[in-house]
Amino acid sequence: METGTETRRNVPQLFGSAVFNDDVMQERLPKDVYKSLRKTIDEGKDLDLAVANAVANAMKDWAVEKGATHYTHWFQPLNGITAEKHDSFISPTSDGRVIMQFSGKELIKGEPDASSFPSGGLRATFEARGYTAWDPTSYAFVKGDSLYIPTAFCSYSGEVLDKKTPLLRSMEDLSRQAVRILRIFGDQKTKRVITTVGPEQEYFLIDKALYDQRPDLRFTGRTLLGAKAPKGQEMEDHYYGSIKPRVAAFMKELDEELWKLGILAKTKHNEVAPAQHELAPIFTTTNIATDHNQLTMEVMKNVAARHGLICLLHEKPFEGVNGSGKHNNWSVSTDSGENLLDPGKEPAKNTRFLLFLAAVIKGVDEYQDLLRISVASAGNDHRLGANEAPPAIVSMFLGDELTAILEAIEADVPYTGVEQKKLETGVHVLPDLSMDTTDRNRTSPFAFTGNKFEFRMLGSAISIACPNIMLNTIAAEELRQFADELEGSAHLEADVRRLVRRVMQEHKRIIFNGDGYSQAWVEEARRRGLLDLPTTVDCLPRYLDQKNIQLFVSHKIYTEAEMEARYETIMEEYVKTLNIEGLTLSSMLRQDILPAVGAYTGELARNISAKRAVSPQIPCAAQTALLARLSALEDELFAQAEDLDQAMADPRVKSANVLTAATYCKEELIPRLEAIRQAADQAELDMPSARWPYPTYAQLMFQV
Ligand code: ADP
Ligand code: MG
Repeated sequence: METGTETRRNVPQLFGSAVFNDDVMQERLPKDVYKSLRKTIDEGKDLDLAVANAVANAMKDWAVEKGATHYTHWFQPLNGITAEKHDSFISPTSDGRVIMQFSGKELIKGEPDASSFPSGGLRATFEARGYTAWDPTSYAFVKGDSLYIPTAFCSYSGEVLDKKTPLLRSMEDLSRQAVRILRIFGDQKTKRVITTVGPEQEYFLIDKALYDQRPDLRFTGRTLLGAKAPKGQEMEDHYYGSIKPRVAAFMKELDEELWKLGILAKTKHNEVAPAQHELAPIFTTTNIATDHNQLTMEVMKNVAARHGLICLLHEKPFEGVNGSGKHNNWSVSTDSGENLLDPGKEPAKNTRFLLFLAAVIKGVDEYQDLLRISVASAGNDHRLGANEAPPAIVSMFLGDELTAILEAIEADVPYTGVEQKKLETGVHVLPDLSMDTTDRNRTSPFAFTGNKFEFRMLGSAISIACPNIMLNTIAAEELRQFADELEGSAHLEADVRRLVRRVMQEHKRIIFNGDGYSQAWVEEARRRGLLDLPTTVDCLPRYLDQKNIQLFVSHKIYTEAEMEARYETIMEEYVKTLNIEGLTLSSMLRQDILPAVGAYTGELARNISAKRAVSPQIPCAAQTALLARLSALEDELFAQAEDLDQAMADPRVKSANVLTAATYCKEELIPRLEAIRQAADQAELDMPSARWPYPTYAQLMFQV
């Protein structure tokens, strides 16, 4: 790695230096080829093979100059990570040498053996063929020895097997419906509407040598046990705290690596929990933001390894302190860059903004279940509703001003609130709306933050594709309904007001500006009839509700079979996760913890009898009490290990019905894992630290 020297180069020069971006294309492609490629990228026009050949050749020359020997179609299968298979550019010549070649056909289409990727039963294993198709809207890049070509992935018979295809479809669909609305407001020039996303990424950094000693971290990404350290996050001294040198060095190299890949890494800081940090990029088109977030997670892990660190992306690596999430900042803008969720200086008079806002309100209320489902995973179940994370109940924060505007419309009275409020603050600098709402609610799962929505329920490890597919499709559906209603309206202002009034009457229950972390809200939400779906197993079956199938099928995002496949895949992943956790904990108990406790209780017993042998008068109450307590825990842990193994052998764990298996895991395995943890943590506290087989929370969280 060329790290140290990189900083001496300037950042603008470094930025995108590993990306086959617009500059490179302009420089290296013949004019007409560049033009038709641009048309494909900007307007979705089909690409012909002659153009593809020219692009492929230019890409290959450029990549080879950057040191690449291989290319790979890079895709995002249903398991939420990325996949790659590398082919070299070599092509034999008649005289026994090789030349470097790359054709348009190879650029456009790949044929990875698809049989080992999750497909939720869509593609029988004997029918292994899958196709990858170049996505020219996301730039190719060089990483390591390879040219990476972002691609979509589908089966031989055309079923979608990845996350990129539906995301692109949902973006196009939203664009179509939003443009209809713009036309109603007299905008004839906008051709496309684009959804933008800036995903803030949280993560933990721990020492690799300590990590290596913990099977739970290695196999499951989280600690399955571990007594709390004397200090957690209660001093509130880590959030935005000064960054330690080793972490700073990691962050610096991370920024450089991301910049090279054209990723707009912008903000870095310490997060609330000890050893927890965050990176936020500048927002970009959803599709690219998704690719970039996948890359960011991967680069984080790789750079950490070079610093003797491990980057934990699990949603809840440590009990008792904050888990990690991902904040999906989402907005909608025109192709000329006008943000359609920007209320401007006078939101009350910004009818178009209010209409878009109403679409989001209605959509979030009607599809609470889908938003919850879009963030469902075994890992995120530990986080939602726990320390400093939004609850599993979907609601929306709009802030006082917007809520007041909407309430005025609902009551059909003129809105007068703004001026008054500004006078009250006594602020002389004119506070426009975005300033007003900056003092915002951090406890809402879905918060309006001035000119965008911040969806905060995402877990740190998941791909942002699914939440954005949901958001885009839901918004597209509501805009479609609004456009159907308003097209041809002769009294637009009045009709929009009436529509917004109706949306408020029917959907304002979803708006909640208070403390989303409080128990009072959980009860209030229930009274309002909002869905409370605490776990993956509770929410996921609703994915296949008729209204949701209707939504995705009518917008041509998924077929019903593709939805069933997705449901199967997520449930299967949940079951597999819990199985791995169960097996890991069982082996930790049997191979490390029980032997350690047994050795120590044996030693205590020998000490006690040795003392007694010297003289019965020598006090040994402390060791006797400790021996009794630890021996009881030892028996308990052994019994729990036996019981866990038995539970894991239950046929329901392997049931072909994923809901049966997942329900069993939730109801039978999780409580057992938690009970074991309690007993083990108690034993840890009673054992000499040198005799406990694993690095402690204190070491893991405070030693970097
Ligand atoms: P914070 O939420 O920490 O106060 P910011 O308001 O600066 O931070 O923004 C957080 C994230 O929101 C950043 O990643 C930023 O790029 C992103 N963001 C800002 N504007 C938009 C937008 N119009 N669309 C999508 N994301 C946006
Ligand atoms: Mg934020």
